[in-house]
Amino acid sequence: MQNNPDWQTIHLNTGEQTVIPELQEKVAHKELDRFFSGLAAAVRPILLLDYDGTLAAFRVDRFTSRPYSGIREALTRIQRQGRTRMAIITGRPANEIAPLLGLDPPLEVWGLHGAERLYPDGRRQLERAPAATEARLEELRQHLRRDALGGLFEDKANGVVMHWRGKPRKAAERIERRARELFEPLANLEGLALLDFEAGIELRVGRNKGGAAAAILAEESPASPVAFLGDDLSDEAAFRVVRQLGDRGLSALVRPKWRQTDAEVWLRPPREVVSFLLCWGKTEETAR
Ligand SMILES: [Mg+2]
Repeated sequence: MQNNPDWQTIHLNTGEQTVIPELQEKVAHKELDRFFSGLAAAVRPILLLDYDGTLAAFRVDRFTSRPYSGIREALTRIQRQGRTRMAIITGRPANEIAPLLGLDPPLEVWGLHGAERLYPDGRRQLERAPAATEARLEELRQHLRRDALGGLFEDKANGVVMHWRGKPRKAAERIERRARELFEPLANLEGLALLDFEAGIELRVGRNKGGAAAAILAEESPASPVAFLGDDLSDEAAFRVVRQLGDRGLSALVRPKWRQTDAEVWLRPPREVVSFLLCWGKTEETAR
């Protein structure tokens, strides 16, 4: 970024990057320039963040996924300035985030991909499906408790998840096929939908991440700059919502390797994410 020396370290340091087309990289520079100049003038910017893969590395034991070094400090700085509305939008149950992130006070968290809202004061809202749908979902839960199809069954308040991360390819394909056979017929029931993500599938009730982002935006001024950072396929819905905002929106794919995405820019974790958040905090300080 021309105006911000920190930005140079993020996007000009892309020598080994060959996957992303050169044109797209130029667009990314322009997007970031534009976004950060808008941010400096904003009354109440909005910063929306996924957790796993975006602020923290994946761990087999998900309860040990601490944020990357430097993330907590950068977020604390933005939090203390008190201008930005920050929220985490995660696939996890919302109450898992505060102990891992370690911010005081805790951030607002939209859990279960957006179906659950946990306010910083502890109030919690959860979307539900019609009773008949909930009953069918419960039958499926019981089935998967007896037979996890060779994968990892995760029982969530608003749905069921089948994971095949780390399985050999053949086994993964078998698990996916069996899970789809069970999940797809139920996805037609009122209130239920399928959600694909990397190495897993979820049958679930409620908003997706795009719906969560839209719900947050609806509570704020239509002039507020908004950024959303995420890594997974389930983040694409939120990328699209933010991208539709035009100049005041910035959607960023956080991933070691670029992939096809609706996000406008690409940040590699952890360094570029930390730099992005530091830029955010700095912009806020200069804006005072
Ligand atoms: Mg993620």
